[in-house]
This record gives sequence, structure tokens and C-alpha cells, in this order.
Amino acid sequence: MSEERRVLKGIPASPGIAIGRAFVYNRRFAAINQRPIPADRVEAEISRFRTAVDEAMNDLTRLQRRIAVDFDQDIVKIFRAHQAVLEDPEVVDVTIVRIRRELTNAEYIFDDVMRGWIANYSSIENPFFRERTADFEDVHYRVLAKLTGNAQTGIEAADGEIVLVAHSLSPSDTAELDRDAVCGFITDAGGQTSHTAIVARGLAVPAVVGTNIATQAISDGMMIIIDGNSGMVHLDPDADTIRRYRETQSRLSVLGHELQELHDLPAETRDGRRIELSANIELPAELEDVLNHGADGIGLYRTEFLYLVGNELPPEEDQTRTYQRIARRMAPNQVIIRTLDLGADKMPKQMPDEANPALGQRGIRLCLDRPEMFKVQLRAILRAGVEGNVSLMFPMISGLQELRRAKALFEEARNELLEAGVPIDRKMPIGIMVEIPSAALTAHDLAKEVDFFSIGTNDLIQYTVAADRGNPSIASLYNPCHPAVLRLVASVIDAAHDNDIWVGVCGAMAAHPLAACILLGLGVDELSMSPIDIPEIKSLIRSADYQELKTITREALDLSTSEEIMRFMKPHQPKTELDVSDMMRI
Ligand code: PEP
Ligand code: MG
Repeated sequence: MSEERRVLKGIPASPGIAIGRAFVYNRRFAAINQRPIPADRVEAEISRFRTAVDEAMNDLTRLQRRIAVDFDQDIVKIFRAHQAVLEDPEVVDVTIVRIRRELTNAEYIFDDVMRGWIANYSSIENPFFRERTADFEDVHYRVLAKLTGNAQTGIEAADGEIVLVAHSLSPSDTAELDRDAVCGFITDAGGQTSHTAIVARGLAVPAVVGTNIATQAISDGMMIIIDGNSGMVHLDPDADTIRRYRETQSRLSVLGHELQELHDLPAETRDGRRIELSANIELPAELEDVLNHGADGIGLYRTEFLYLVGNELPPEEDQTRTYQRIARRMAPNQVIIRTLDLGADKMPKQMPDEANPALGQRGIRLCLDRPEMFKVQLRAILRAGVEGNVSLMFPMISGLQELRRAKALFEEARNELLEAGVPIDRKMPIGIMVEIPSAALTAHDLAKEVDFFSIGTNDLIQYTVAADRGNPSIASLYNPCHPAVLRLVASVIDAAHDNDIWVGVCGAMAAHPLAACILLGLGVDELSMSPIDIPEIKSLIRSADYQELKTITREALDLSTSEEIMRFMKPHQPKTELDVSDMMRI
């Protein structure tokens, strides 16, 4: 095997290193043959199908009860979604009608119906919906296993240090497997928002998804190394590679303990400047991670994932409960709930087709266009505010008029609740994401009408340098250290402070060590990032000298290119003993 063929590159879904023998998990059935059913046997065939569906439903209910002990409600919801597939008339009734009409065996018709759905879902361009194909595959497999009685049940049988390799791993596969035996996952399919990734992170098992060919390239029993930080998978590595990864594994475990010691310490520079270090979350399932990594609060809750998981906005009561649960768990620390930022790359099916979605009906624009939907969410956030630690944030604000319209709807929602005598937080802080250059350039005006800013550098960079944040072919243009970006960020921070409001950064730039130093030097009050990045950045802040960074950073702003800025700043990046990125350079 050539050197290249021994390494697969996928999407890092859950960090850490796993070393073990491959177990290639294939859902195999005996071929599904077409069999004619005599007319007088057709009702018996339908009843056989109904029994299989009922048994699959019962299994899913049992599974929900079992995993509810270990997992957050969001994972439980995945199984409810599978049950919903089995309750869908387009699946069950259509199968029954076709068995009757075509006088053909149940497994053949059901297989055909499900293959149609799977093909439809997997052809949707939006990755989030493509990944929901796994739900259909799960149900497809579960019912066919009941009908044919010949499913492979290999995972339960696996033992030892197993690296599980699968085309896609359904949530029920992951929940059912023996966690003492499986040390990592690799899948052909999936992306960072796939359920496999969510579950793997929840289990703290290293995982790489989206490799495309893992099930073809890997055979049972092959030695495998998963590097869940870089997305690399080593096949049949030589003894030297295994030794180096084992060393890194034990260094990471020591590091894990040291980072744990940072857990309760503040993110404070050597000369006493305290920064709020908060977490970004997409789903409430990440809450434990947030607490385990010592976050000071939640700086960004991307609520659009609530919509994307269920394919519609949950009713006001459900939303209130979800927000309240998060607020209670985090109390007394702050939770910033961002209103829906649907659109662009987070696109539900029923959204209008647009030629240029990143510049189209996205975030606050969509919400202002659908005030009734928006007010449901605003009411739910206000109601959760009774916990006393909730703030609300509007995404994609482009200027003052838009902000005022959003605030007017907020006032309407507030008055409706007050008139109905519903308890709310009457003084809920309101902030905005500053992520569009027009907002950054008018930050002085905006700052007078909000309580805080959170700079969304993921979008601010893409709109400033006109480079799609998801397009790898222009990734080199998408640079957080571009002087235009840094000068905009600096002006937003100054505008906030001139108007006595706090300002944070919740884009990925906040977790980049060199960029975080620059943000620190520019005077940012808060940094918010994925929970997993918090200990490293906390360690960096605790090694930094704010006054020194402040002087140096202002000088850096006068330089003309990102290369010059990075070269100039690098020697001033504090050395920390806990440099995870250095450690992962194997
Ligand atoms: C951002 O744009 O920086 C941000 C944090 O929001 P999102 O990544 O959800 O667009
Ligand atoms: Mg954004």
C-alpha cells in the first residue's frame, strides 16, 4: 500500500485519539426478493407488515427509555423522529396500499418505498437535510430486520479496543453499542452537524466522519488510528506511527487533567484583566460539555438548530421549556439566546429559492418578514427570562432601522405577555451580532440602542473580503488577520466602549490562539467559542500580559497585510504549557 493510501482524510467530528482494530459494520440482509402474494393471503401479509412496524416502534420506545438515562433530551428526540417516520402515512399507508394493489410481499414493497425516500433526501443539496437520510436508513433497516429476521447484530458482539467503521452510523447504533468496547468511530457519510457527530461528542469518543471511502478502504481487524482533532485516519500504521500516537495519547490525558485544574480558575491575564470566556452551543445536548470545560456562560445559543432538527419551529411552550432548562442549568451565569438565523447555509426545505442566499433572506430579515413566527420565539425567550440570567441577541443586523423594527416586535411580544399576566424578565438585556460591515461602520449609532455587541467574525470576514466562508477554494482569502477585518473589529470595540456597553466575539476567530491575542489586545470583554476550545484559550489568557498586548496590537493595525500582521504578532503570543495544537502536531 502506498503512503497516501494509508491515510484517509475526513471531517473531525469528535476530538481525541483512538487506536484499535477495525470492525466494519455493514447492515447486511439476504437479498430482498420480490414474491407474489395470492389475493386471499394479502391481508395476512399486511398484518405481518403491521406487526413488524409495531415491534420496531416498541424497540424505539424502549431505546428512548434506556438512553434517556445517559443522554440529553435531544438525542431522545432523534428516536422520536424515527418513530415519526413510521407514523408517516407516506411510508406506512403507501406500503400497505401497494402490497394490496401489486399483490407483492411486504419487504419488497417497503424496501422500495424507503429507497425512494432515501434517494430524495440524499439528493437535497443542504448538508443538514442530506444528513437526515440516516434517520430513514435507520427505520428502513429496523423494519426490514423484523420482516426478514436476518439482521446482522455485529456491534454487540464486538469486544476489545474496537474502532467502528460504518457507511453511516445511526443514532440507535451508537446508543446501543458497548461503550467499553468501542474506542472510536469512522463513517463514510456525515458532516459536523450529523447525528453521529453529536452522539460521538456526547460520548466523548474520538470520531471522523465524511471520509467517503472508509468502509471500502478498511477491512475487519485492520489496525487503525483515529485523530479526531485533524480528521486523519491512519490505516495499518507502522510501529513508529503507533508509538508516536500512543505518546500523544498519554500526553493528552495528562493535559486533560491539567486543563481540568484550570476549570474553576478565571480567564484573567497576568496583569489582572478579566475576560468572560463563554461557550457557543447549537443544541442543549452540549450543556454538559459547556460545564465540563469551565465556561463562564453561554455567549451564543444558535437557536436555528431547534428549527432544523424538527424541520419547523417548536411551539411556544416547547421553546420556553428548552430555553428555561438551559438557563436553569447555567444559572447564575449568563445565557445569550440568539434569535433564529435561518438562511444561507442553514436552509430549511420550505425556504424561498434564492440565487444568492448568503445575501438574501437570512437571519433577522426572514424574521421581520414573518413577524408571527418571530414573536413566538420572542415570547418564549422572554418567558425563560424569569430565570434572571437570559439575554437576547439579534443576528444579521445591517443598520439602525432594522434594529428598531426588531425591537418594536420585541416590545409587542413583551406587552402581550404582560397583559396576559405571564411572568417575564422585564429588564432583559438586548444585544446584536455585529457581523455585517454596514453594522460595524455604524456601530456608534447602534451601540446607543443596545446593551451589548457580539462580533460575529465568521460572517464579518466573509462579507468584508467577499469570500464565502464555506468555499475551500478561496480559503486563503478568508483571513481573520486581514487588516480590513481587524480595523473593523477594533472600531466596533471602541464604539461599544465609548458608549459604555460590553463587546464580545463569538466567531471562530475567538478560538484561534494568535487571533485571540489580537482581540485581547484590542480590549474585547468576552470571547465565546466551542466548549472544547475553552481550556486552551483560558490557559493562553492566563499567560498573557494585557498592557503589552494592547500596545503591540495597536501597532499591528497599521500594518498593511495579514502576513505582516501575523509575523509581527507571533513573537508576542504567550507561550502556554498547554498548547494543544503543538501537542497534536505529530
Ligand atoms: C458568526 O457569524 O461569526 C457567528 C458566530 O454566527 P454563525 O457562525 O452562526 O453565522
Ligand atoms: Mg453569523
